Amino acid sequence: MTASERSLQDLKRRHPEWEPWLTVIREVLRESAELKWAAVVPSLAATPLGKTPLLAEARIVLPKSLLRAWFEQLIRVAHRSGTDNLATLKAALDAKLDILNIFKASLQQHDDFLKQLATSLDADAEAFAAVMALLPIPLLQAINRRCAQAVKASWMEGYCPVCGAWPAFAETRGIERSRYLRCGRCGAEWEAHVLSCPYCGNGDHERLVSLIPENSAKSAIDACKVCLGYVKVFTMLQGVPPAAVILEATIIPVRKYSKPGFSTILRRKKAGIRHTPFQPWHVRFSTSGGWRTR
Ligand SMILES: [Zn+2]
Ligand SMILES: [Zn+2]
Repeated sequence: MTASERSLQDLKRRHPEWEPWLTVIREVLRESAELKWAAVVPSLAATPLGKTPLLAEARIVLPKSLLRAWFEQLIRVAHRSGTDNLATLKAALDAKLDILNIFKASLQQHDDFLKQLATSLDADAEAFAAVMALLPIPLLQAINRRCAQAVKASWMEGYCPVCGAWPAFAETRGIERSRYLRCGRCGAEWEAHVLSCPYCGNGDHERLVSLIPENSAKSAIDACKVCLGYVKVFTMLQGVPPAAVILEATIIPVRKYSKPGFSTILRRKKAGIRHTPFQPWHVRFSTSGGWRTR
């Protein structure tokens, strides 16, 4: 049993009410471990150029059969997982959808496109967008496994050097307490300044706050008074393994931060932050092979 699987079992035991979503996450973890995704990793530059994440300039060729099989499997697991809103996703299996377009939108975090599509299907828009956000993860994890070493040293931005997403959380590691940001999609890690907001670059310590819950010395929330963004920070000896970041990113116990000061910040959740960290994307997509017939 891997560390991620152990964490999943443990979470299910402690939070039986999370079971439907954890079932979906387990499926993503299982698929991400499949070697077939390594075979479709695009060739990428050796290191990111300037502020451009590696994937933004890639040319991605995806076999239609691979894409459709994974899309259908993800929807199937989600709609059977046992909540009313996820059950509405079944409509996506019956419709004739352009799966490559959905994949593109998800990769580039175009939530509005996904929500509009869900509405046109009579599916729950939030649930559809949340599940479709997981669609590119097996490819993104495979890409990060290939190029993790390329990005560590040089990247200074707040968003992921591999896939362009905002960090899921930060880690303060080891006795030297260096800080790393972690991507909840591809699992990448990149070093960051402690006294700087990853979202807007604000480095004025008067306008940066750290919120530490009374019952935990190992986690905190660092928030920025300029853009109202916040990032959860975990203190640990070593970083979380890339596959386990998906799990951590999904289940971070926000409820722990329930004191009034904390909840105000959480309610304003990243209000001033660009939803899409990085623009413009130049990634080109194409498909190979034929669509799998059912
Ligand atoms: Zn990433
Ligand atoms: Zn900020």
